Amino acid sequence: MKAVISGAGIAGLSNARFLAGAGWDVVVLERAPARRREGYMMDFFGPGFEAAEALGLIPRLRELAYPIDRVAYIDKRGRARATLSYERFSRMVDGRLLSIMRPDLELALLESLPGDVQLRYSTTIDTLRNNDDGVSLTLSDGTEEEADLLISAEGIHSELRSRIFGPEEDYLRYLGYHTAAFIFHDPALHAETGARFSLTDTIDRQAGIYGLRGGDVAIFTVHRANDRRLPNNPRGELRRRYAQLGWFMPRALEQCPPEVYYDQVAQIIMPQWHSGRVVLAGDAAHAVSLLAGQGASLAVAGAQELARELASAADISTGLDNYEKNWRPRLEVHQQAGRRAASWFVPSNPLWLGVRRLVLRLMAVPGADRFFSGRLVGKTGAKVKP
Ligand SMILES: Cc1cc2nc3c(=O)[nH]c(=O)nc-3n(C[C@H](O)[C@H](O)[C@H](O)COP(=O)(O)OP(=O)(O)OC[C@H]3O[C@@H](n4cnc5c(N)ncnc54)[C@H](O)[C@@H]3O)c2cc1C
Repeated sequence: MKAVISGAGIAGLSNARFLAGAGWDVVVLERAPARRREGYMMDFFGPGFEAAEALGLIPRLRELAYPIDRVAYIDKRGRARATLSYERFSRMVDGRLLSIMRPDLELALLESLPGDVQLRYSTTIDTLRNNDDGVSLTLSDGTEEEADLLISAEGIHSELRSRIFGPEEDYLRYLGYHTAAFIFHDPALHAETGARFSLTDTIDRQAGIYGLRGGDVAIFTVHRANDRRLPNNPRGELRRRYAQLGWFMPRALEQCPPEVYYDQVAQIIMPQWHSGRVVLAGDAAHAVSLLAGQGASLAVAGAQELARELASAADISTGLDNYEKNWRPRLEVHQQAGRRAASWFVPSNPLWLGVRRLVLRLMAVPGADRFFSGRLVGKTGAKVKP
């Protein structure tokens, strides 16, 4: 059996790994010219952690992960107004939680691929014929491919999904926020942040900062935006929205690169994930959004499920049907959790900000932490349990 996978993100590489492990020939196509280095910190736990464990990846992921010890809500001068112990969240999931940069998770998956998996950068699908018994493709490098299965793992804005299932607006559910992330080198700021994940204690917008290896610093932002359309100048928009937040923000904005990651916070909700021999995976199929804090985890676990269903079914069509039937209910729980989290994530007025501060204080009370952490998410996200 042969699979072509479009997209070499977490979903694409996980699918490649699980299918190759089950004996499939695998070709992965990636639009980017090389491995993506930009990204953001993720909580990695839940079903994806278990799937990564099945692949034997946890020791490598632990090497690549970051030892975040606490999450602090900070004021304009950088003073912590409330602090949460990350260790406590880790204990809630029996230590099966990693703070890892997205490119590092991709790296671990990439390193684990068997040598015969082909990974072709700067390559996309030009034309596609989706037959009952396979797909025929012509690729942007002029070559042709025939395969039994085509997996779109192209992320939330998948072009392949639009070609097969129709335009993005039919499936994208906007959750009312824009998000951005960027990395820059600043050893002095790095020394100030230490192993702390700092978040601003602010209304309608929130910025986070954390130190990476080698004196690099990563910034992550989320702000409320009634208009879902992305700005023409994301860097300018970040300046406009965040310059007044104080402490690290003016300095970070000065160092914001032109190619900043900037996108809507949204989910993909589809009535069906496969058509003929094309199936969607990861965010392309079922983005849960950063508010659910488990998109990467679900991308890895979904790949394990798909490979398992394909292996146990009499034919590919039955395997795809079973995959959808069994994976969808588990997945939808996380999408609902993400939508519920939206109102808590960034306080919309001083009253909500006060409520959040109170909740943060209550989190010091044994037992209350488990209840409230589910409503705070973000880098305190280790609670939305599978
Ligand atoms: C700020 C932020 C914080 C997050 N925090 C967490 C967290 O704490 N925990 C967690 O589990 N998840 C988190 N997530 C979600 C997680 O990052 C995503 O769910 C996950 O990365 C999705 O992986 P993917 O492979 O499906 O898509 P993507 O990562 O988008 O990868 C898609 C790949 O396909 C390629 N591609 C696109 N179009 C084409 C094409 N036409 N042809 C070929 N290649 C193409 C792209 O270049 C890319 O390499 C967060 C997300 C954000 C934005």
